[in-house]
Amino acid sequence: MSEPHAPLMSMEQALERLLALAEATPIRGQESVDLADADGRVLAEPMIAGLDLPPWANSAMDGYALRLADWQGEALLVSQRILAGTAPDALQPGTCARIFTGAPIPVGADTVEMQENVSLTDDGRVHFNQPLKVAHNIRPQGQETRTGETLLAAGMRLGPIELGLAASIGLAQLPVRSRPRVAVLSTGDELVEPGRALGAGQIYNSNRYLLVAWLQRLGCEVIDGGILPDDLERTREALGALQDVDLILSTGGVSVGEADFLGIALREAGELALWKLAIKPGKPLTVGEFRGRPVIGLPGNPASTLVTFGLLARPYLLRRLGVQKVSPLGFHVPAGFSWPKPGKRREFLRARLENGRVVPYSNQSSGVLRSAAWAEGLAEVLEGHSLAEGDSLRFIPMSELLG
Ligand code: AMP
Ligand code: MG
Repeated sequence: MSEPHAPLMSMEQALERLLALAEATPIRGQESVDLADADGRVLAEPMIAGLDLPPWANSAMDGYALRLADWQGEALLVSQRILAGTAPDALQPGTCARIFTGAPIPVGADTVEMQENVSLTDDGRVHFNQPLKVAHNIRPQGQETRTGETLLAAGMRLGPIELGLAASIGLAQLPVRSRPRVAVLSTGDELVEPGRALGAGQIYNSNRYLLVAWLQRLGCEVIDGGILPDDLERTREALGALQDVDLILSTGGVSVGEADFLGIALREAGELALWKLAIKPGKPLTVGEFRGRPVIGLPGNPASTLVTFGLLARPYLLRRLGVQKVSPLGFHVPAGFSWPKPGKRREFLRARLENGRVVPYSNQSSGVLRSAAWAEGLAEVLEGHSLAEGDSLRFIPMSELLG
């Protein structure tokens, strides 16, 4: 537990600590998966090219291949047609070859002229209308990649581009890190699953769906612990039922309220610290372990859950998988609003870009998930700073956080 009046922990410090914890508990397991199943996974070993790309010189254009040194400016006979996917004969001296994009350059040819720059004579010869240059429109063997080069480092996250790249060097499977097993627990007597009727004082459990979908996008295997009532015995039971997991991720009950049964039960067999973060939304965060299993307790208000998961728990999980680049890209954009009163905590406003300026959602309450659905990103107003309209601030696109 932290002291009641301990200073707030900065965002940077919280992230640094979480990443250090992540590095101390890496998820080392790995498996080989087909490319079709590898989207979102983390590469476990460097991806090394086992061939040159292109594997042989080929034409970048539909046109005519010839040998420039043999050509005196006369119209040339077409001695062969070379389609993509065929193996050409050597070029007959004094002729040219019809050639198509991606087809191999025949031995003996050293330039390709695009078809738009030739005219055909009545007897079918090719007249070149423009001056020619050696090596023109030829993609040489190995121009993109040489055998033995590392195309992707271990720890890269695999997406459509990386999978296409793997396929281009002929790999059908890739070694990836095991999926982290993450238990998701929602705490609170007031929570009801969607699809049921709301009773007095109840609200629907939104965090569970937010986190389950997000974790799946991050390549995690989710162990869905459902709703934990505010009851110590039931909470103990639920924790006891958690099989081998790599992380226990909970929401709610972290604000040292009287109903913090999850915190009590976790502490009985573990060690937890409550961090008070200098961020808004999302001040309280529980970090620790239960029976040797890492635990992160996110605040229960949905916008707080979003911000703390996206900016802290997500980088932590990715780093446990060996990912180096875990922080979202952000860029500076002029404010379309003013912020006259500097705050003690860093604010992550749910905001949009309108005419190149950051516009925050009208209701920034941490309970309002709608603000995030409206938003295109999080706009960062630093602690201790005021802003005038037109001052620049960092904007983190939601797409950087959600994948
Ligand atoms: P707590 O940290 O448990 O005091 O919760 C803070 C606020 O977040 C309360 O208004 C809760 O009702 C709300 N909350 C907690 N968990 C969830 C959840 N899973 N879905 C929606 N709201 C929640
Ligand atoms: Mg609660």
